[in-house]
Amino acid sequence: MTDTIVLGAGIIGVCIAIHLQRRGRNVLLVDRREPGRETSYGNAGIIQREGVRPRAFPRDLGELLRIGAKRGLDTRYDLAALPGYVPALASYWRNSAPARYRRIVAEYAPLIAHSISEHADLISAAGAEDLIDKRGFLLLFRSAARRDAAFADADADARDYGIGRARLDADEVARMEPALRVPLVGALHWTAPWTVRDPGALVDAYVGLFRQLGGTVALGNADSLGAAGSGWTVRTSDGSASAAEVVLALGPWAGEATRRLGYRFPLFIKRGYCREYQYMPGVTLNRPVLDIEMGYLLAPMHRGVRLTTGAEFAHQNAPKNEAQVEGSEAVARQLIELGARLDLEPWLGARPCTPDMKPIIGRAPNHRNLWLAFGHAHHGLTLGAVTGRLLAEQMTGETPFVDPRPFSAQRFVA
Ligand SMILES: Cc1cc2nc3c(=O)[nH]c(=O)nc-3n(C[C@H](O)[C@H](O)[C@H](O)COP(=O)(O)OP(=O)(O)OC[C@H]3O[C@@H](n4cnc5c(N)ncnc54)[C@H](O)[C@@H]3O)c2cc1C
Repeated sequence: MTDTIVLGAGIIGVCIAIHLQRRGRNVLLVDRREPGRETSYGNAGIIQREGVRPRAFPRDLGELLRIGAKRGLDTRYDLAALPGYVPALASYWRNSAPARYRRIVAEYAPLIAHSISEHADLISAAGAEDLIDKRGFLLLFRSAARRDAAFADADADARDYGIGRARLDADEVARMEPALRVPLVGALHWTAPWTVRDPGALVDAYVGLFRQLGGTVALGNADSLGAAGSGWTVRTSDGSASAAEVVLALGPWAGEATRRLGYRFPLFIKRGYCREYQYMPGVTLNRPVLDIEMGYLLAPMHRGVRLTTGAEFAHQNAPKNEAQVEGSEAVARQLIELGARLDLEPWLGARPCTPDMKPIIGRAPNHRNLWLAFGHAHHGLTLGAVTGRLLAEQMTGETPFVDPRPFSAQRFVA
Protein backbone atom coordinates (compact mmCIF):
# COMPACT_ATOMS: atom_id res chain seq x y z
CA MET A 1 0.00 0.00 0.00
CA THR A 2 1.54 3.31 -1.13
CA ASP A 3 1.24 6.31 1.19
CA THR A 4 2.90 8.90 -1.04
CA ILE A 5 3.65 9.23 -4.74
CA VAL A 6 6.57 11.51 -5.58
CA LEU A 7 6.34 12.67 -9.21
CA GLY A 8 9.75 13.57 -10.65
CA ALA A 9 12.95 11.70 -9.88
CA GLY A 10 15.52 14.46 -10.23
CA ILE A 11 17.73 15.31 -7.27
CA ILE A 12 14.80 17.07 -5.55
CA GLY A 13 12.25 14.26 -5.89
CA VAL A 14 14.74 11.55 -4.95
CA CYS A 15 15.83 13.37 -1.77
CA ILE A 16 12.19 13.91 -0.75
CA ALA A 17 11.45 10.23 -1.38
CA ILE A 18 14.37 9.17 0.84
CA HIS A 19 13.37 11.46 3.69
CA LEU A 20 9.74 10.31 3.59
CA GLN A 21 10.72 6.66 3.42
CA ARG A 22 13.03 7.19 6.39
CA ARG A 23 10.05 8.53 8.30
CA GLY A 24 8.04 5.38 7.75
CA ARG A 25 6.08 6.39 4.65
CA ASN A 26 5.66 3.89 1.84
CA VAL A 27 6.82 5.92 -1.16
CA LEU A 28 6.46 5.35 -4.89
CA LEU A 29 8.85 7.49 -6.94
CA VAL A 30 7.57 8.03 -10.49
CA ASP A 31 9.32 9.54 -13.49
CA ARG A 32 8.65 9.33 -17.20
CA ARG A 33 12.25 8.25 -17.69
CA GLU A 34 15.16 6.85 -15.70
CA PRO A 35 15.83 8.89 -12.52
CA GLY A 36 18.30 11.77 -12.62
CA ARG A 37 18.63 12.08 -16.38
CA GLU A 38 17.29 15.61 -16.83
CA THR A 39 18.49 18.82 -15.16
CA SER A 40 20.08 16.89 -12.31
CA TYR A 41 22.37 15.16 -14.81
CA GLY A 42 24.31 17.77 -16.78
CA ASN A 43 24.95 20.37 -14.12
CA ALA A 44 28.30 21.61 -12.85
CA GLY A 45 28.17 19.39 -9.78
CA ILE A 46 28.88 22.03 -7.15
CA ILE A 47 27.17 21.88 -3.76
CA GLN A 48 27.28 25.62 -3.41
CA ARG A 49 27.65 26.30 0.29
CA GLU A 50 28.85 29.77 -0.64
CA GLY A 51 25.66 30.49 -2.62
CA VAL A 52 23.81 32.48 0.01
CA ARG A 53 23.02 35.13 -2.57
CA PRO A 54 20.73 33.67 -5.23
CA ARG A 55 21.46 34.83 -8.78
CA ALA A 56 19.90 38.32 -9.10
CA PHE A 57 18.74 40.09 -12.24
CA PRO A 58 21.46 42.55 -13.30
CA ARG A 59 20.56 46.12 -12.30
CA ASP A 60 23.58 47.82 -13.81
CA LEU A 61 22.87 49.61 -17.11
CA GLY A 62 26.23 48.71 -18.66
CA GLU A 63 25.64 45.07 -17.83
CA LEU A 64 22.13 45.16 -19.32
CA LEU A 65 23.40 46.78 -22.52
CA ARG A 66 26.11 44.16 -22.79
CA ILE A 67 23.55 41.35 -22.46
CA GLY A 68 21.16 43.13 -24.86
CA ALA A 69 23.93 43.34 -27.47
CA LYS A 70 24.70 39.60 -26.91
CA ARG A 71 28.30 40.58 -26.35
CA GLY A 72 28.99 38.06 -23.56
CA LEU A 73 28.79 34.29 -23.41
CA ASP A 74 27.24 34.22 -19.95
CA THR A 75 23.69 35.24 -20.95
CA ARG A 76 22.01 34.63 -24.30
CA TYR A 77 18.41 34.99 -25.40
CA ASP A 78 16.18 34.09 -28.29
CA LEU A 79 14.27 37.24 -29.25
CA ALA A 80 11.19 35.20 -30.23
CA ALA A 81 10.92 33.80 -26.70
CA LEU A 82 11.32 37.09 -24.81
CA PRO A 83 7.65 38.26 -24.85
CA GLY A 84 6.71 35.12 -22.90
CA TYR A 85 9.35 35.92 -20.32
CA VAL A 86 8.34 39.56 -19.74
CA PRO A 87 6.01 39.20 -16.71
CA ALA A 88 8.35 36.89 -14.81
CA LEU A 89 11.46 38.90 -15.68
CA ALA A 90 9.78 42.16 -14.65
CA SER A 91 9.07 40.64 -11.26
CA TYR A 92 12.59 39.16 -11.10
CA TRP A 93 13.96 42.65 -11.79
CA ARG A 94 11.84 44.18 -8.99
CA ASN A 95 12.91 41.48 -6.55
CA SER A 96 16.55 42.18 -7.39
CA ALA A 97 16.32 45.79 -6.16
CA PRO A 98 18.64 46.23 -3.17
CA ALA A 99 16.13 46.32 -0.28
CA ARG A 100 14.00 43.40 -1.51
CA TYR A 101 17.06 41.42 -2.45
CA ARG A 102 18.52 41.82 1.04
CA ARG A 103 15.34 40.34 2.53
CA ILE A 104 15.42 37.45 0.06
CA VAL A 105 19.06 36.68 0.90
CA ALA A 106 18.21 36.65 4.61
CA GLU A 107 15.47 34.07 3.94
CA TYR A 108 17.52 32.02 1.50
CA ALA A 109 20.80 31.81 3.43
CA PRO A 110 19.45 29.42 6.13
CA LEU A 111 18.60 26.85 3.43
CA ILE A 112 22.06 27.10 1.89
CA ALA A 113 23.66 26.90 5.34
CA HIS A 114 22.59 23.25 5.62
CA SER A 115 23.46 22.24 2.08
CA ILE A 116 26.69 20.41 2.88
CA SER A 117 25.60 18.81 6.15
CA GLU A 118 22.37 17.47 4.65
CA HIS A 119 24.13 16.05 1.59
CA ALA A 120 26.86 14.62 3.84
CA ASP A 121 24.19 12.60 5.64
CA LEU A 122 22.80 11.13 2.39
CA ILE A 123 26.21 10.66 0.75
CA SER A 124 27.36 8.62 3.70
CA ALA A 125 24.12 6.60 3.89
CA ALA A 126 24.30 5.94 0.14
CA GLY A 127 28.02 5.07 0.19
CA ALA A 128 28.67 7.69 -2.49
CA GLU A 129 31.87 9.21 -1.08
CA ASP A 130 33.87 8.28 -4.20
CA LEU A 131 31.83 10.85 -6.16
CA ILE A 132 32.73 13.72 -3.85
CA ASP A 133 35.63 16.12 -3.74
CA LYS A 134 36.05 18.57 -0.85
CA ARG A 135 38.54 21.05 -2.29
CA GLY A 136 36.07 23.80 -3.17
CA PHE A 137 36.18 25.71 -6.45
CA LEU A 138 37.82 28.80 -7.92
CA LEU A 139 36.45 32.00 -9.42
CA LEU A 140 39.10 33.15 -11.87
CA PHE A 141 39.75 36.82 -12.56
CA ARG A 142 41.16 38.39 -15.66
CA SER A 143 40.76 42.00 -14.42
CA ALA A 144 41.73 43.62 -11.14
CA ALA A 145 38.40 45.46 -10.93
CA ARG A 146 36.32 42.25 -10.96
CA ARG A 147 38.74 40.57 -8.59
CA ASP A 148 38.64 43.37 -6.03
CA ALA A 149 34.85 43.63 -6.13
CA ALA A 150 34.51 39.85 -5.65
CA PHE A 151 37.05 39.83 -2.83
CA ALA A 152 35.09 42.56 -1.03
CA ASP A 153 31.78 40.66 -1.46
CA ALA A 154 33.41 37.47 -0.21
CA ASP A 155 34.69 39.29 2.87
CA ALA A 156 31.11 40.36 3.59
CA ASP A 157 29.86 36.78 3.12
CA ALA A 158 32.59 35.50 5.44
CA ARG A 159 31.59 38.08 8.06
CA ASP A 160 27.80 37.68 7.73
CA TYR A 161 27.51 33.96 6.97
CA GLY A 162 30.81 32.42 8.06
CA ILE A 163 31.66 31.18 4.57
CA GLY A 164 35.25 30.03 4.10
CA ARG A 165 37.26 31.59 1.30
CA ALA A 166 40.83 32.46 0.36
CA ARG A 167 42.15 35.25 -1.84
CA LEU A 168 44.70 33.93 -4.29
CA ASP A 169 47.22 35.92 -6.30
CA ALA A 170 48.35 34.83 -9.75
CA ASP A 171 51.23 32.71 -8.43
CA GLU A 172 49.01 30.90 -5.96
CA VAL A 173 46.49 30.14 -8.71
CA ALA A 174 49.31 28.77 -10.87
CA ARG A 175 50.44 26.53 -8.02
CA MET A 176 46.94 25.20 -7.35
CA GLU A 177 45.94 24.77 -10.98
CA PRO A 178 49.16 24.53 -13.02
CA ALA A 179 47.28 23.57 -16.20
CA LEU A 180 45.71 27.04 -16.58
CA ARG A 181 47.62 28.97 -19.20
CA VAL A 182 45.88 32.35 -19.61
CA PRO A 183 47.31 35.25 -17.57
CA LEU A 184 45.07 35.77 -14.55
CA VAL A 185 45.19 38.45 -11.86
CA GLY A 186 44.07 36.08 -9.12
CA ALA A 187 41.21 33.93 -7.97
CA LEU A 188 38.75 33.57 -5.16
CA HIS A 189 38.87 30.13 -3.63
CA TRP A 190 35.55 29.13 -2.10
CA THR A 191 36.79 26.50 0.28
CA ALA A 192 33.49 25.24 1.74
CA PRO A 193 31.67 23.80 -1.31
CA TRP A 194 31.87 20.12 -2.11
CA THR A 195 31.91 19.07 -5.73
CA VAL A 196 30.39 16.01 -7.34
CA ARG A 197 32.37 14.15 -10.00
CA ASP A 198 29.24 12.76 -11.69
CA PRO A 199 25.93 14.36 -10.67
CA GLY A 200 23.85 11.72 -12.48
CA ALA A 201 25.66 8.99 -10.55
CA LEU A 202 24.92 10.80 -7.28
CA VAL A 203 21.20 10.62 -8.09
CA ASP A 204 21.65 6.92 -8.93
CA ALA A 205 23.34 6.34 -5.56
CA TYR A 206 20.53 8.16 -3.76
CA VAL A 207 17.96 6.05 -5.66
CA GLY A 208 19.88 2.98 -4.45
CA LEU A 209 19.54 4.24 -0.88
CA PHE A 210 15.81 4.88 -1.39
CA ARG A 211 15.31 1.31 -2.65
CA GLN A 212 17.34 -0.08 0.27
CA LEU A 213 14.97 1.75 2.61
CA GLY A 214 12.07 -0.08 0.94
CA GLY A 215 11.01 2.54 -1.61
CA THR A 216 9.74 1.68 -5.10
CA VAL A 217 10.51 3.32 -8.44
CA ALA A 218 8.22 3.19 -11.50
CA LEU A 219 7.89 4.76 -14.92
CA GLY A 220 4.84 6.95 -15.35
CA ASN A 221 3.68 10.31 -16.56
CA ALA A 222 2.43 13.16 -14.37
CA ASP A 223 -0.14 13.86 -17.12
CA SER A 224 -2.10 10.89 -15.78
CA LEU A 225 -2.41 12.33 -12.27
CA GLY A 226 -6.04 12.35 -11.16
CA ALA A 227 -8.00 12.81 -7.96
CA ALA A 228 -9.44 9.65 -6.44
CA GLY A 229 -11.58 10.14 -3.36
CA SER A 230 -9.45 12.12 -0.92
CA GLY A 231 -6.23 10.90 -2.61
CA TRP A 232 -4.65 10.59 -6.01
CA THR A 233 -3.97 8.06 -8.78
CA VAL A 234 -1.24 7.89 -11.41
CA ARG A 235 -0.81 5.40 -14.26
CA THR A 236 2.57 3.70 -14.15
CA SER A 237 4.31 0.96 -16.10
CA ASP A 238 3.32 -1.37 -13.25
CA GLY A 239 -0.37 -0.41 -13.41
CA SER A 240 -2.45 2.22 -11.72
CA ALA A 241 -1.04 3.49 -8.41
CA SER A 242 -2.98 5.35 -5.76
CA ALA A 243 -1.88 7.15 -2.64
CA ALA A 244 -3.17 9.55 -0.04
CA GLU A 245 -0.60 12.22 -0.92
CA VAL A 246 1.33 13.38 -3.97
CA VAL A 247 4.47 15.46 -4.25
CA LEU A 248 5.20 17.35 -7.47
CA ALA A 249 8.96 17.61 -7.94
CA LEU A 250 9.00 18.11 -11.69
CA GLY A 251 11.79 20.70 -11.97
CA PRO A 252 11.38 22.78 -15.14
CA TRP A 253 8.17 20.90 -16.05
CA ALA A 254 6.37 21.88 -12.85
CA GLY A 255 4.57 24.73 -14.65
CA GLU A 256 2.68 22.33 -16.95
CA ALA A 257 1.57 20.00 -14.17
CA THR A 258 0.48 22.77 -11.81
CA ARG A 259 -1.38 24.63 -14.59
CA ARG A 260 -3.50 21.53 -15.14
CA LEU A 261 -4.42 21.76 -11.45
CA GLY A 262 -5.41 25.41 -11.81
CA TYR A 263 -2.28 27.20 -10.57
CA ARG A 264 -0.54 30.02 -12.40
CA PHE A 265 2.87 30.14 -10.75
CA PRO A 266 5.17 32.66 -12.46
CA LEU A 267 7.82 30.06 -13.29
CA PHE A 268 10.40 30.49 -16.01
CA ILE A 269 13.53 28.68 -17.14
CA LYS A 270 17.15 29.51 -17.86
CA ARG A 271 18.49 26.93 -20.24
CA GLY A 272 22.10 25.77 -19.94
CA TYR A 273 24.38 23.50 -21.93
CA CYS A 274 27.12 21.11 -20.96
CA ARG A 275 29.74 19.29 -22.97
CA GLU A 276 32.54 16.98 -21.86
CA TYR A 277 36.07 16.59 -23.18
CA GLN A 278 38.73 13.93 -22.84
CA TYR A 279 41.48 14.66 -20.37
CA MET A 280 44.77 15.39 -22.14
CA PRO A 281 47.70 13.32 -20.83
CA GLY A 282 49.45 15.23 -18.06
CA VAL A 283 46.78 17.97 -17.89
CA THR A 284 44.98 17.99 -14.55
CA LEU A 285 42.18 20.21 -13.32
CA ASN A 286 41.97 19.75 -9.56
CA ARG A 287 38.68 21.50 -8.90
CA PRO A 288 35.99 23.40 -10.86
CA VAL A 289 36.98 26.82 -12.16
CA LEU A 290 34.48 29.51 -13.03
CA ASP A 291 35.88 31.82 -15.70
CA ILE A 292 33.54 34.47 -14.42
CA GLU A 293 34.41 37.28 -16.79
CA MET A 294 33.91 35.02 -19.80
CA GLY A 295 30.80 33.28 -18.41
CA TYR A 296 31.38 29.52 -18.39
CA LEU A 297 32.62 26.89 -15.95
CA LEU A 298 34.93 23.88 -16.23
CA ALA A 299 34.61 20.99 -13.80
CA PRO A 300 36.70 17.84 -13.53
CA MET A 301 34.35 14.86 -13.75
CA HIS A 302 35.07 11.14 -13.65
CA ARG A 303 34.44 10.88 -17.38
CA GLY A 304 36.25 14.01 -18.59
CA VAL A 305 36.38 17.78 -18.17
CA ARG A 306 32.84 19.18 -18.20
CA LEU A 307 32.08 22.64 -19.57
CA THR A 308 28.81 24.23 -18.49
CA THR A 309 27.39 27.44 -19.91
CA GLY A 310 25.58 30.40 -18.44
CA ALA A 311 21.90 31.16 -19.04
CA GLU A 312 19.96 31.00 -22.28
CA PHE A 313 16.47 32.53 -22.35
CA ALA A 314 14.58 30.49 -24.95
CA HIS A 315 11.45 28.35 -25.28
CA GLN A 316 11.90 25.16 -23.29
CA ASN A 317 11.38 22.94 -26.33
CA ALA A 318 13.21 25.12 -28.88
CA PRO A 319 16.03 23.32 -30.72
CA LYS A 320 19.52 23.62 -29.26
CA ASN A 321 21.43 26.71 -30.29
CA GLU A 322 25.05 25.68 -30.00
CA ALA A 323 26.48 29.21 -30.29
CA GLN A 324 26.88 29.68 -26.52
CA VAL A 325 28.56 26.34 -25.92
CA GLU A 326 30.75 26.66 -29.04
CA GLY A 327 31.85 30.16 -28.01
CA SER A 328 32.56 28.98 -24.46
CA GLU A 329 34.55 26.03 -25.75
CA ALA A 330 36.72 28.30 -27.90
CA VAL A 331 37.59 30.44 -24.85
CA ALA A 332 38.06 27.39 -22.60
CA ARG A 333 40.52 25.83 -25.02
CA GLN A 334 42.71 28.91 -24.56
CA LEU A 335 42.50 28.55 -20.78
CA ILE A 336 43.39 24.86 -20.59
CA GLU A 337 44.27 22.11 -23.04
CA LEU A 338 41.12 20.04 -23.62
CA GLY A 339 40.93 16.75 -25.49
CA ALA A 340 38.32 15.62 -27.97
CA ARG A 341 34.59 16.10 -27.34
CA LEU A 342 33.10 13.04 -25.72
CA ASP A 343 29.66 13.42 -27.30
CA LEU A 344 28.49 14.57 -30.69
CA GLU A 345 25.84 16.89 -29.31
CA PRO A 346 25.96 19.08 -26.20
CA TRP A 347 23.56 18.25 -23.37
CA LEU A 348 20.83 20.82 -22.76
CA GLY A 349 19.00 21.41 -19.49
CA ALA A 350 16.75 24.09 -18.02
CA ARG A 351 17.17 25.68 -14.60
CA PRO A 352 13.68 25.94 -13.04
CA CYS A 353 13.33 29.52 -11.77
CA THR A 354 10.94 31.71 -9.78
CA PRO A 355 10.95 35.53 -9.92
CA ASP A 356 11.86 35.90 -6.25
CA MET A 357 14.80 33.51 -6.59
CA LYS A 358 13.46 31.19 -3.87
CA PRO A 359 12.19 27.67 -4.50
CA ILE A 360 8.64 26.61 -3.74
CA ILE A 361 8.70 23.99 -0.97
CA GLY A 362 5.50 23.13 0.88
CA ARG A 363 1.80 22.45 0.70
CA ALA A 364 -0.21 23.32 -2.45
CA PRO A 365 -2.54 26.20 -1.58
CA ASN A 366 -5.80 24.83 -3.03
CA HIS A 367 -5.53 21.06 -2.77
CA ARG A 368 -5.58 18.70 0.11
CA ASN A 369 -2.72 16.24 0.20
CA LEU A 370 -0.73 17.85 -2.60
CA TRP A 371 2.82 19.04 -1.97
CA LEU A 372 5.19 21.06 -4.12
CA ALA A 373 8.98 21.21 -4.45
CA PHE A 374 10.48 22.97 -7.47
CA GLY A 375 11.99 26.24 -8.68
CA HIS A 376 15.52 25.67 -7.34
CA ALA A 377 17.09 27.55 -10.26
CA HIS A 378 20.91 27.59 -10.08
CA HIS A 379 21.02 25.68 -6.79
CA GLY A 380 18.93 22.54 -7.20
CA LEU A 381 21.80 20.15 -6.64
CA THR A 382 22.94 22.24 -3.69
CA LEU A 383 19.49 22.26 -2.09
CA GLY A 384 18.31 18.75 -2.94
CA ALA A 385 19.01 17.18 0.43
CA VAL A 386 17.85 20.25 2.39
CA THR A 387 14.58 20.32 0.42
CA GLY A 388 14.04 16.60 0.97
CA ARG A 389 14.26 16.97 4.71
CA LEU A 390 12.31 20.23 4.91
CA LEU A 391 9.36 18.92 2.90
CA ALA A 392 9.29 15.53 4.63
CA GLU A 393 9.24 17.27 8.02
CA GLN A 394 6.29 19.42 6.96
CA MET A 395 4.41 16.43 5.56
CA THR A 396 4.88 14.32 8.66
CA GLY A 397 4.09 17.08 11.13
CA GLU A 398 7.60 17.41 12.56
CA THR A 399 9.01 20.78 13.51
CA PRO A 400 10.86 21.93 10.38
CA PHE A 401 14.60 22.43 10.86
CA VAL A 402 14.46 25.62 8.76
CA ASP A 403 11.61 28.12 8.70
CA PRO A 404 9.55 26.98 5.66
CA ARG A 405 7.35 30.09 5.42
CA PRO A 406 9.51 32.04 2.92
CA PHE A 407 9.19 29.09 0.51
CA SER A 408 5.43 28.64 0.70
CA ALA A 409 3.57 28.54 -2.65
CA GLN A 410 0.98 30.81 -1.05
CA ARG A 411 3.15 33.82 -1.94
CA PHE A 412 2.18 33.37 -5.60
CA VAL A 413 -1.53 32.85 -5.03
CA ALA A 414 -3.76 35.94 -4.94
C1 LIG B 1 24.21 23.96 -16.99
C2 LIG B 1 23.70 23.85 -15.56
C3 LIG B 1 24.60 23.86 -14.50
C4 LIG B 1 24.14 23.75 -13.18
N1 LIG B 1 25.06 23.69 -12.15
C5 LIG B 1 24.61 23.53 -10.88
C6 LIG B 1 25.53 23.40 -9.80
O1 LIG B 1 26.75 23.35 -9.97
N2 LIG B 1 25.02 23.31 -8.52
C7 LIG B 1 23.68 23.32 -8.28
O2 LIG B 1 23.29 23.28 -7.12
N3 LIG B 1 22.78 23.40 -9.29
C8 LIG B 1 23.21 23.52 -10.58
N4 LIG B 1 22.31 23.61 -11.59
C9 LIG B 1 20.87 23.60 -11.28
C10 LIG B 1 20.38 22.20 -10.98
O3 LIG B 1 20.87 21.28 -11.94
C11 LIG B 1 18.85 22.18 -10.97
O4 LIG B 1 18.35 23.19 -10.12
C12 LIG B 1 18.34 20.82 -10.42
O5 LIG B 1 18.91 19.76 -11.15
C13 LIG B 1 16.82 20.75 -10.49
O6 LIG B 1 16.47 19.48 -9.99
P1 LIG B 1 14.96 18.98 -10.09
O7 LIG B 1 14.92 17.65 -9.43
O8 LIG B 1 14.06 20.05 -9.60
O9 LIG B 1 14.70 18.86 -11.67
P2 LIG B 1 15.08 17.68 -12.68
O10 LIG B 1 16.40 17.11 -12.41
O11 LIG B 1 14.83 18.20 -14.07
O12 LIG B 1 14.01 16.56 -12.34
C14 LIG B 1 12.65 16.66 -12.75
C15 LIG B 1 12.22 15.26 -13.14
O13 LIG B 1 10.84 15.31 -13.50
C16 LIG B 1 10.62 14.40 -14.58
N5 LIG B 1 9.42 14.77 -15.29
C17 LIG B 1 9.19 15.91 -15.99
N6 LIG B 1 7.95 15.89 -16.49
C18 LIG B 1 7.39 14.71 -16.12
C19 LIG B 1 6.13 14.12 -16.34
N7 LIG B 1 5.18 14.73 -17.06
N8 LIG B 1 5.88 12.91 -15.78
C20 LIG B 1 6.82 12.27 -15.07
N9 LIG B 1 8.05 12.78 -14.83
C21 LIG B 1 8.33 13.99 -15.35
C22 LIG B 1 11.88 14.53 -15.41
O14 LIG B 1 12.06 13.38 -16.23
C23 LIG B 1 12.97 14.72 -14.35
O15 LIG B 1 13.59 13.50 -14.03
C24 LIG B 1 22.75 23.70 -12.93
C25 LIG B 1 21.83 23.67 -14.00
C26 LIG B 1 22.30 23.73 -15.31
C27 LIG B 1 21.31 23.68 -16.44
